Formats: sequence, C-alpha cells, structure tokens
Amino acid sequence: MLFPMAGGGGQGGKQNNDANMAVRNAKSEIALLRQELDRTTLIVQALWELLKKRSELTEEKMLEMIFAVDMMDGKVDGKPSRIPDNCPQCTRPISVATNSCFFCGIVVERKKVF
Ligand SMILES: [Zn+2]
Repeated sequence: MLFPMAGGGGQGGKQNNDANMAVRNAKSEIALLRQELDRTTLIVQALWELLKKRSELTEEKMLEMIFAVDMMDGKVDGKPSRIPDNCPQCTRPISVATNSCFFCGIVVERKKVF
C-alpha cells in the first residue's frame, strides 16, 4: 500500500485506492514516455549518422549548432526553445503556445518549423 492510513476502509480507504490508482497511471505514462523518447532519440541519432556520412558536417559543427539553438532564447539550459514570431499588427511577440497575440488577440499562422 502506497499511502497507508490509520483505521483503513471507509472514505480513507477509497481515497487511498484512488491515490494508488493515480500513482499507477502516472508510472505507466512515464514508462510510455520513456519508450517514446528512446525511439525518438534512436531516430535522431540514425539521421545524424546518415547526415555525417553524406555531408561535410562534423561532430564539432553539430555541437556548435546545438549551442547556437540552445542560445536562441538567450539562455543555455539544454532545452529547445521556440522563438516567437512578431505580431503583424502590433509587432510584439506572439504566443508560441496559442499562435495568437496577447496584446491585440489576433491569431496568426506560424511560419517557423520549430
Ligand atoms: Zn499584436
């Protein structure tokens, strides 16, 4: 039992079962995400190996580009970042989550891949 409660049974027992079920569901979701991440990493690595063989790209150039992409949001944190487009109406940055302008509310089509 993950969350033992004094007395057992009754309302506390139901809450306990709900909590255990939520933990099991979260663990299953994490395991699935790990599998998907492993598969995605494998594909990216295979693409990189193909690209190296068929181009002039080197590990050094790739590492420089990873650093440059990491820096696109102004901080080196090892995380990708989506650089917002600017609003065609008010020129302020557009939300990358909603593709809409916080200030004038217009929705725009995103023109960047990442
Ligand atoms: Zn705007």
